[in-house]
Amino acid sequence: MSSRANKRARAHMGRIANMACICCTLLGRAQDSRTEVHHARIAQGGAQRGGDFCTIPLCADDCHRGRNGVHGDRRYLAILKMDELDLLDATLERLYGDVR
Ligand SMILES: [Zn+2]
Ligand SMILES: [Zn+2]
Repeated sequence: MSSRANKRARAHMGRIANMACICCTLLGRAQDSRTEVHHARIAQGGAQRGGDFCTIPLCADDCHRGRNGVHGDRRYLAILKMDELDLLDATLERLYGDVR
């Protein structure tokens, strides 16, 4: 990857890291830990990891690495009836929501 592309990827992931946890947002609750950047995995089991622009903001201790989170038993995804691609879609909708 060129350094220019790297710079764009870092800038994008910085924007994602500054967002609220998309999972907590959709669940309608306040998040209680800082946001981490998660690379979306489309195939179950995590074989195919998305690129740096396919990233999702998730709170570190719960929705990301917690028991019910995307690296846990994925219970929150089941409650929302969403997969990681849906979370990515909701993330981009919010990221660009203010654009007129
Ligand atoms: Zn969360
Ligand atoms: Zn992750």
